Formats: sequence, C-alpha cells, structure tokens
Amino acid sequence: MVATKKKKKKTKKTAKPRAKTKKKPAKKTAKPVSMLRKPEKKSSPVRVQVKSKIKAKSKTKTKSTAQSKTVSKKKVRTTLENQPCFFFGGGKADGDATLRDLLGGKGAGLAEMSRIGIPVPPGFTITTEVCRIYYENNLEIPKDIDAELEKQMAKIETLVGAKFGDPDNPLLVSVRSGAKFSMPGMMDTVLNLGLNKDTITGLAKKTGDERFAYDNYRRFVQMFGNVVLGIDKDKFEKIIEQRKKDRKIKQDSSLQVEDLNFIIRKFKSIIKRKTGESFPDDPYVQLRMARDAVFRSWNNPRAISYRKLNDIPGDLGTAVTVQMMVYGNMGNNSGTGVGFTRNPASGEKEFYGEYLLNAQGEDVVAGIRTPQPISQLADEMPVVFKQLKSLTGKLEKHYRDVQDFEFTIQDSNLYMLQTRTGKRTVQAALKIAVDMVKEKLITKEEALMRIEPAQLDQLLHPRLDSGTEYEVIATGLPASPGAASGAIYFTSEAAVKAASAKGAGPVILVRQETNPDDIEGMNAAAGILTSRGGRTSHAAVVARGMGKCCVAGCEVARVNEAKKQLQIGKLIIKEKEIITINGSTGEVILGSVPTIDPELSGEFAEFMTWADEIRKLKVRANADTPVDAIKARKFGAEGIGLCRTEHMFFAEERLPIVQEMILADSVEERQDALDRLLPFQKKDFKKLFDVMEGLPVTIRTLDPPLHEFLPDKKVIEKEIEEIDKFDEEYEEKIDKKKKMLRRIDELKEINPMLGHRGCRLGIVYPEITEMQVRAIIEAACELTKAKKKIIPEIMIPLVGHVNELKNQKEVVRRIADEIIKKTRVKDFEYHVGTMIEIPRAALTADEIAQEADFFSFGTNDMTQMAMGFSRDDAGKFLGYYVEKGILQKDPFVSIDRNGVGRLLQIGTEKGRMTKPDLKVGICGEHGGDPDSIEFCDMVGLDYVSCSPFRVPIARLAAAQATIKQKQQTAERDK
Ligand code: PEP
Ligand code: MG
Repeated sequence: MVATKKKKKKTKKTAKPRAKTKKKPAKKTAKPVSMLRKPEKKSSPVRVQVKSKIKAKSKTKTKSTAQSKTVSKKKVRTTLENQPCFFFGGGKADGDATLRDLLGGKGAGLAEMSRIGIPVPPGFTITTEVCRIYYENNLEIPKDIDAELEKQMAKIETLVGAKFGDPDNPLLVSVRSGAKFSMPGMMDTVLNLGLNKDTITGLAKKTGDERFAYDNYRRFVQMFGNVVLGIDKDKFEKIIEQRKKDRKIKQDSSLQVEDLNFIIRKFKSIIKRKTGESFPDDPYVQLRMARDAVFRSWNNPRAISYRKLNDIPGDLGTAVTVQMMVYGNMGNNSGTGVGFTRNPASGEKEFYGEYLLNAQGEDVVAGIRTPQPISQLADEMPVVFKQLKSLTGKLEKHYRDVQDFEFTIQDSNLYMLQTRTGKRTVQAALKIAVDMVKEKLITKEEALMRIEPAQLDQLLHPRLDSGTEYEVIATGLPASPGAASGAIYFTSEAAVKAASAKGAGPVILVRQETNPDDIEGMNAAAGILTSRGGRTSHAAVVARGMGKCCVAGCEVARVNEAKKQLQIGKLIIKEKEIITINGSTGEVILGSVPTIDPELSGEFAEFMTWADEIRKLKVRANADTPVDAIKARKFGAEGIGLCRTEHMFFAEERLPIVQEMILADSVEERQDALDRLLPFQKKDFKKLFDVMEGLPVTIRTLDPPLHEFLPDKKVIEKEIEEIDKFDEEYEEKIDKKKKMLRRIDELKEINPMLGHRGCRLGIVYPEITEMQVRAIIEAACELTKAKKKIIPEIMIPLVGHVNELKNQKEVVRRIADEIIKKTRVKDFEYHVGTMIEIPRAALTADEIAQEADFFSFGTNDMTQMAMGFSRDDAGKFLGYYVEKGILQKDPFVSIDRNGVGRLLQIGTEKGRMTKPDLKVGICGEHGGDPDSIEFCDMVGLDYVSCSPFRVPIARLAAAQATIKQKQQTAERDK
C-alpha cells in the first residue's frame, strides 16, 4: 500500500523533473523602446511645443481612466524625431514596409502597398511616436501635430476631389489603430467620420441613396459614442431594439430614413445626457477626438491582456491610420471580404477567404452574417475576382510570404484595405515554408527561420483515434486543427475559473461567437466551439494563433449562455458535461474520445532534415525508460543525454528492496539487497541500450537523497497501530516498522537538496555505485556480444571537487574493467564523465576535466545553487519577480545568461583548457528552451539534451542558432 502510494507520487516526478517548468509564451523580437527611438528611416525633427504642466482633465478623456498604466510617464520630450504623419495614396507613399515601429503593421503595409501600385484608399498614418508623446504629455496632443492633421487631410482631398466637411461632396474617413505587432480586434476603430447634419445630405446625394447615408450616420454616432465617448454599447442597441419593436420590424435593414433619424436623435440625446456636451459636428473636432480615443485604446484592459499573453511590450504604443472611407454596403455591386493567399489552416496553395455582398467589413469578421466562400465571387463578379487574385498574388510575391488581406468593392471598384503576414497553424506554416522553398520564393534558411521552435509543440498535439467509434452530434466549420475533450463552459470567466480549479480537467469554451473580451477564456480552454461565424471569425483566427482546436459556425447548435446549455436538436448538454470537438473536421461529439499522437512525416520530416543539415549542436533526450527512448528516437534524438536511474527504483516490485537497502545495518545486508536489485537494473539498461543501439546513452548514478525512497512517517505510525496484537509475528513486524521510523529520522535532512545526495551517496556507500556499474556494463557487454553497437556513458552527479570524481571513477573503472575482462568483449568502449551542477565544479573545471571524459551541465541544480533559489520553493516568488521585471524570465525555464550562463562558459573553457576535445553537453531543463539553446550554441557546447517531446523544438532551435550566428558574422564582415 505504502509503496504504491509512494510510487504514484514519484512516477509523476519521472515525467517532470524537479524544476518546475512553465510553458513559455511565444517570443516576439520586440525591441525596447529606447531602440525604437531610432527608427530605420529618419526625417528632419519636428519641433513640438509641449506645455510642461498640462491640466490632467481633457474633454475627450471619458474612456481613459486608468489608461496610462503601461506607457510610462517619462520626462516630457519637446521634439519628435520623425515627422508625425506619413501620407500614402495615388501610387506613392512617405513610408514603406520597413517602418513598422513607427507606422505600425497596418500603416507600414498600406504605405508599401501604395508604393507598389496596389489600389488603396488614400490616407495617412500618425506615428507611434506621437502616441508615446500623447501618453508622456498627460493624454494631450501638442498643438503642432493638430495643425499637421489639416495638411494631411488636404492631400487626400486633392487626390480624391472631395472635401472634409463639404456639404455637397463630403470626404469621410476611418480612424484605425495599428501597432507594430498585430493585436487583432483589441484596439478601437471609428468609421464614417466626417458626417454631420450638413454632410449627410451630400452623402445622400453622392450615393443617390438617402437610407444608406442615414444608416451610416447612425452607425457613426453609435460607434463614436461608444469608442470615443465611452458610452455602453447596450444603451444604443436598446434604442434600436425599441424602435424595431414599436414599428414591428425584425431586421435592422427594414428601418427607414425616419426611423434612422429618430434613432440618431435619441443617440445624441443620450450622449448629451451622459457627457454633458452635444455630439460634435465639426469634422476636425471629431477627427481629433477619434484619434485620441484610438491612442487610448492601446491601454484598454483587453489590449493589455493580449499583450501579456503574447509577450508584446507595453510601451510601444499604437499608430493611427486615417483613411478615406470606401463602402462595401452600397448595393449589390459592392461588398467586402477577407482572405489569405494560401489556406492558413492546412497550408494548401489555394485562394482562401470569405466575403459578403452589400456589407461592411465588420459584418464579415464579427460572425453576425455567415459569409460566402471566396470562390463564389468568381461567379458573382468575375472581373473583380480576377483582379483580386492578381493583386494578392503580387502581394505574396512582393512580401515572399502568405498574405492575410482585407478588401472592399465599392461600386465594382476594388480597394485593398490591408495586407499583413498571414497567421497560420504550425501545420500550415510548415507546408507553406516547404512549398515556398520548392517554388524558389525563399531559401531553406529563411524557411527554417519562419517557424517559432516552440510552435512545433502544436504538431505533437493529439488527434482523435480513428479506431474508436463515436457519434457525431453536430458538424461546424473546421476552423483550427487538433482535437480536445473537456467540460463545457459558456463564458470566458467560467472557463478560466474551471480550468484553474484544483484537479481540473480540460475545458471547452462554448459561445455563440467570441469577441476580444473572450481572450482569457480561450487561452484557458483546450478547445473552442462557436455556433456562428466563419473560418475567419474572431474565434477561428485567435484559436489558430493559440494553436487550440476550434469548431466555428456550428449553426445547428443553439448556445444559450444564460441557461448555460447547448442544444443540438432535442439533445440538451449542460455546463460541466463533456464534449469532444475535432477542429480538423468540424465534428462535435458527446462525451470524451481517446486521442492518438500525430505522425511526424511529410513536410515535417523534410523540414526537420533541413534543420539537421544546418545545425552544429547535437540533440539528445532525457529518457529514463525504453518507452521514452522509443519516443525520443522517433523525434530524432541522437542519443540519451540523461537517464535518471533513480526512477527505476520506484517500480512497485523494487521499492521494498530499495527500502531494505537503505535500512540495512551492515554492508552485508546492504549488499544483499543490492544483489536483488541488480537483475532489475540490468534488464532496464538492456532494453534501453537496445532501443538506442548505435547511439550514446548517458546513465547517471544514483542522485536523490535516500529518504525520498522511504514512506511517510505518519503512514508507518498508522501501520504500527493496525498490526494485529495476536499475530504470531507481531514482535518481528513491530521491530521492522520501528526500525523504519528510526531510519527515517536518521535520514531526515534540513536541506536535502544540499544534503546527502549525488556522488556523496556513492562515496559513502560504494556498493550502490558498484551495483549500478555492474548492471550497466553487464547489459552492454551482453548486447555487444550479440553484435550490437552499444555506447554507454556513466555520469557521476553533483561533483564539486575533483577528488569526488576520482573516488567514483575508481569504483566505475574497477567494476567495469573486471566485467569486460571476464566477458572478453571486443570493440567495446565506455566513458566516465560528470555532471557540472555545482558552481565550484564550473570554476575548477580544469581540474575536474583531468578525470572526466565528458561534462554535462545540470543547469537545474546549477541555477538553484548559483542564484540561491530553492528549486522546490522558488515558484512562490518567481512569478512575482518576473511580473515586476526584477527578472526578465524564470531562470529555471530560460538560462540566466549573465550568471548561470557565465558559469557554463567558464566551465566549458576551463574543461577544454585541460582536454581540448572534451565533449560538453547540457541536460537541465534549459536543454529544451530555444533561447538557452541559442546560448549553448554560442558557448560551443556539443549537444543539448531535453525531454523527448522537446527534441524537434531543440533541433529547430539549434538550426536557428547556427543561422543567426552566420548572419551576424556576415553582418560583421560587411
Ligand atoms: C540538473 O540538475 O540540471 C539535472 C539535470 O539533474 P536533476 O534535475 O535530476 O537534479
Ligand atoms: Mg541535478
């Protein structure tokens, strides 16, 4: 009983080494703000007068409370380093694609498109630098920049022949956010800006459609009221609903001009009531207020949360793009859509996207109407379709990557609104990278650099076992691949709460449609199911980015968030019940379905061979069992870098013998127990060597403190109480238990991680090392005799002084040579090396290398000892440290380059001073962390060793490290 319990606990440890690891968020290569102050292209500085003391209160601040949290208030600058606005349009542009820091992704993309002759509605981008000044300046824009707005508007006016505020021929604009890194839907936008009681007539005249004009005015007042003036969306929606009810109308589209006029009046009176001011009629006032609101939206709670999740610095700020409005809702010759130049879910080279005729952009992405597949546009508007294909093809060639584009057709004229690198699943990313190399669009090295190593993890996600029978209860759109089973929850908060509860299983978030407020719930869920929306809906795009499976637009499913139930036909599924979703097929299944690991073949295999051709670092796996070793080989491991032998001691039939060994009173007693352990260990090693035939296998001698193998004292005390007093062997049993209690007390240590563990065990009890060496060498010799190439490496842990290694090496050599002599095997070699885990070992590595054939850095213990952070307790404060910026990263996850890394460097250099060919590796958790792998490559290590599932990640990270070094050398040579 006791042993089983103990075993369970320890088995868990086998899977997860002692260092607590945290999943690393996707890394962005964001530069600190100080670097951004020197953008790639410089133009003459613009003098800006900034008042040193500005009243904190501003009319437009309604929605800005608690806004300036992350954009720091530094000393107020009085000069801009760059021009504040960059114009684009008419086949020209002030900026280009290189100015992402300054113009944001959207602004830089529009500038570049305009430069290469893609039709975009003209406009200009106000830089992120202005945004930062706005925050530094207590949420106020210096006057000079306001003046600049008018000059830029005049340029648009000249180009399009309309005028901002002109009652006869009004120019209307959109005001959009756009940061350096894409933050889809997280910040705000205002459309139809420039409408007022005068220009509305001009718009009606120009379009010949009065209803259209009033509908846009209604949308504008509503959007402005919400985004700029901070009035709750519901307040406006209620007015619309009430009017529809009064007029017995179901659809918004049935509202007539008088209804819209009525609604607009009501909207304006709410605004007056809530803000104390009339709705602004002056287009320039509207423009300035909208611009500031978009700047403020950089710091709205969902944007902050998105940045945290995606590791985007909080002080970059957003750019604002002001652009001529074009309308996709001007009748059936108009429309709007979004698309990708290749399928972002599978990577297939097919035009992929959706559109709606007579609709505005939001209608497609919001999932309110289910859009048509883009192929249908070929029938409905063949000329426009052809033009769209050709323009997007040109964009893909130009950027040499998949493009995610937005377009609007206004009266049969096609405008591209946006293009950016398409987010894709990792499956798609691999296929696209491999295809593009074959199409000679990119090089192999570029292909390798395009995939974030950690993303490969998604390829290892399970899929449904096709051998299992299951009943599909509904089918939606396959929006993001993979499969997951879990308990359903209907709100983001409920999903987060359920997923973080103690002992929680996976969670599926079920929504009618998701919106940016659901981001936390989506992050907590294993999968997402929505009843509305297409493949480019918010749910689909965000799930793909997160690598979560998603079934979207499952229209037969009725999601009742209030009643917390999902209804499919007559079937009602309540909160907490389990469903399974298959994001690769769109299937929804009742109950849980077993899953299987994916095959790593095809594009994946090809891509990985390119990584292998380039990388210098070898990649091994930390594996303790033959099952792990098989997995490791499948994932491309080139050996085992660490086999923790203690994990073999916890098996049910062995633990009692191990306990006997620990409790032994004499060497003879201990030897007796060890003799019985020997066959088990030998069998394990034989299997392990067999699986890894031809590759090195590093086996570490016993490492943990012995008390870890003994049961809990309380359990023994309880067992003593329960021994039957009339049992014939009562005395004997009591004695045995009491001895155990005594020994537990004797072995108890105040600080076991620095106590009697590692090589210290083998030094005090050499018989333990002897038994382990015997098991290793006998197993290896027997297989060698059977003509297998076995390469054992015996590794001594926790050495701090050369004499410790000398002592253990003598034991290893004595036993190993005796067996080799006895078995008379030929062509057999073994090596004896050590872990470098103690700072002293790194500092005296030149001495230690005299006794070692190889070094392997145990960076888990090394981090613990170098930083003085207990591996078992640091979790209590490290999260706080990282959050507060005291440490950039958790040092147990990613190597602390300046401290622990320095020890690694010293250890390697000193070791190689003694033995220039000394093989050096790393087997701590850092061996699977891309950033640490890059560091290991720089230091000149021979290999990294990590858990089997991280082997592909390490192979790619190692290749990227080599490529980066090559690029840096080339840069230096230039
Ligand atoms: C280490 O300390 O880095 C190591 C690999 O050993 P363990 O985690 O087993 O202490
Ligand atoms: Mg260790």
